[in-house]
Amino acid sequence: MKIRQVIHVLEMLAPLSLQESYDNAGLIVGNNETECTGIITSLDVTESVVEEAVKRKCNLIVAHHPVIFKGIKKLNGKSYVERTVISAIKNDVAIYAIHTNLDNIAEGVNKKIAEKLHLQNCKTLLQKEGTLRKLVTFSPVKNAEEVRNALFAAGAGAIGKYDECSFNVDGQGSFRAGEESHPYVGEIGERHLENETRIEVIFPAFLKNKIIASLKESHPYEEIAYYVHSLENVQDNIGSGLIGELPAEVSEKDLLESLKKAFNLSVIKHTAFLEKKVKKIAVCGGAGIFLLPNAIAAGADVYITSDIKYHDFFDADGHILLADIGHYESEQFTMDLLTDFLQQKFPNFAVLKTEMNTNPVKYFL
Ligand SMILES: [Zn+2]
Ligand SMILES: [Zn+2]
Repeated sequence: MKIRQVIHVLEMLAPLSLQESYDNAGLIVGNNETECTGIITSLDVTESVVEEAVKRKCNLIVAHHPVIFKGIKKLNGKSYVERTVISAIKNDVAIYAIHTNLDNIAEGVNKKIAEKLHLQNCKTLLQKEGTLRKLVTFSPVKNAEEVRNALFAAGAGAIGKYDECSFNVDGQGSFRAGEESHPYVGEIGERHLENETRIEVIFPAFLKNKIIASLKESHPYEEIAYYVHSLENVQDNIGSGLIGELPAEVSEKDLLESLKKAFNLSVIKHTAFLEKKVKKIAVCGGAGIFLLPNAIAAGADVYITSDIKYHDFFDADGHILLADIGHYESEQFTMDLLTDFLQQKFPNFAVLKTEMNTNPVKYFL
């Protein structure tokens, strides 16, 4: 199996186009075409993780955090990032990062957090914009069914729990075939009127190339008229954070107690208790304070995230119990998610989870 094949299934799960603009997800070190000897999953990539990969005979590290994030101008080993990259290259270990694209899908980082808390009726907290496109094309009436089928097969026309959604209206198209053309209908040099169906379908932006290829394959014309539009619509299950409900309401103290247990925490930073029962819980793995207004607006009793700064705690302002459980801690189960997913996709292949705790933060208790 080539590394390319592993990347393919990862990007079916979390397309790269769903990463945030500041991110650097994807194949960071290595070559797609290399034969994969084994996969090791990790939250971060450090020199020790590369060493571990070599020892355990894995030449692909699938990590959540991209080791190269800000851009590198020199590679002389002065920082841990440079040394990690150098070591990976020397040892022929590829590094793949599946980062904010994994944060942005319903089956991703936050799903794992929700599972640990037994949250039900989970919904995305803030939908991501710009993930949908619309295709409009015009086909001879008698070919419309074939074109629609091809578009559906390529993944167009899915809206929530429905698929094969399209809108169709018949009308008349005109064209005049030029000298060197090979018109499907009509004569060269003469204006032709054809009864055509205008077909409209919606599709996820990352499928654009596949959809256009299927259009070109199924449509009979030499020159196909079509438009691709950007849409402001969002998809319910694509975006940041997640909100769900506990099976039963509990006290704030009991919630933090069970949080501590489920995430193996030695400490939780939180705002003052509001002295009420809690049931609606919002979560966001990693640095998620930007979603505080969304958590409050969605009526969450508690918002669990990490990397909250001193002044940001004030913004809870008596509306919500804000809890910071630590960045590594909040995303620690992402490794299980990746390991289980890859092992399921490649049952006869070695998919290992790092034995390193890469958390750079220690607690002195
Ligand atoms: Zn994350
Ligand atoms: Zn993170």
